[in-house]
Amino acid sequence: MTLPVSAKKLSYFINSFILLLVFGLTAFFVVCEFKALVYFSIPTILVYLFSYILIAKDKLYHHVYLVIFWITLYMCVTTVFLGYGCGFHLYCFSMIPVSFVIDYMAYKMKAARINAKYLSIGIGAAYILCTGHVSRAGSVYTVEDNVASVFWLFNAATVLFFLIYFSNFMIRSVVISDDKLEKAAMTDRLTGLYNRHYILNRLDDLKDDDMYVCLAIVDIDDFKKINDVYGHNTGDEVLRRVSEMMREECGDCIIARWGGEEFLILMKQDVASAGRTAEHMRERIASESIHTDSDLPIHVTVTVGLSQRAEGRSIDEWTKDIDDKLYVGKNSGKNRVVI
Ligand code: GH3
Ligand code: MG
Ligand code: MG
Repeated sequence: MTLPVSAKKLSYFINSFILLLVFGLTAFFVVCEFKALVYFSIPTILVYLFSYILIAKDKLYHHVYLVIFWITLYMCVTTVFLGYGCGFHLYCFSMIPVSFVIDYMAYKMKAARINAKYLSIGIGAAYILCTGHVSRAGSVYTVEDNVASVFWLFNAATVLFFLIYFSNFMIRSVVISDDKLEKAAMTDRLTGLYNRHYILNRLDDLKDDDMYVCLAIVDIDDFKKINDVYGHNTGDEVLRRVSEMMREECGDCIIARWGGEEFLILMKQDVASAGRTAEHMRERIASESIHTDSDLPIHVTVTVGLSQRAEGRSIDEWTKDIDDKLYVGKNSGKNRVVI
């Protein structure tokens, strides 16, 4: 999973968000003269200040445990003192998905995992205990209805905002990750073209009546010599440049690296038009000099085997057919398109 921001920045953001919240709630407690809760706010503020040190020292694991523990404690204490008409117990609901997500993030980042399952059971048990106690014994303070409404609105809105923000953040992270994985799974790293796996899937996907489709194999001529004379890195550069030229000559084609210095091209064209496209590619590659780190510009040519899809022919038979044509081209002087 790739995070849109670093885990550290996210932790700073969440810690600051909670701290601001605690300051806001402490102000409410002062105004309402809930003395015990004002006193309880002091260690709470100290905990979140201490959390900054943990984050700065990269102790995110300890930070997460501390914050989850303290929010649960805060929820219990405020619910016992004010009853659950004030909505403090709602914080518990945000803690459960958050702990699972944090565990998933830790797994993806190969960091120390937190035990989200046991944490959630602990949070749930604390929730049941404090709300159960309040519903039987009543709250310590008697809270006026309008004060309870203000607390309820504030707490419910905060929990809602946090859940929406966090879920959105997570989904964005997963989508970015998925896109990257998907791209990596279908791309050849060296050339940026599609890979063998991808083009085979596209061949499998062809509909039965899709007959105006051609397949071509492109093989660089005497490529081994380029490696031998200029070195492997220059060989790689030539592979990249040839790939670029093919892409420029046929933007609509599906071009894949089939292996070493061989490429497979899927063209949604009839054989006459595909033949012309292949011929343009061959001419372009033969006429352009490739500039690499080596002193001299390099000239390469390619030989192409091409054929149109035929009814009843399997993909293996089709690729064998273009391979045979490539072989004919190689044996009749190279630098040509054989149809
Ligand atoms: P032909 O004209 O008959 O195709 O001759 P060729 O030399 O191109 O073909 P051959 O199959 O003899 O050699 C292909 C060479 O491609 C051998 C191998 O070292 C090289 N090769 C394969 N993959 C890569 C790669 O990723 N990078 C580089 N630089 N070379 C590669
Ligand atoms: Mg070759
Ligand atoms: Mg070859």
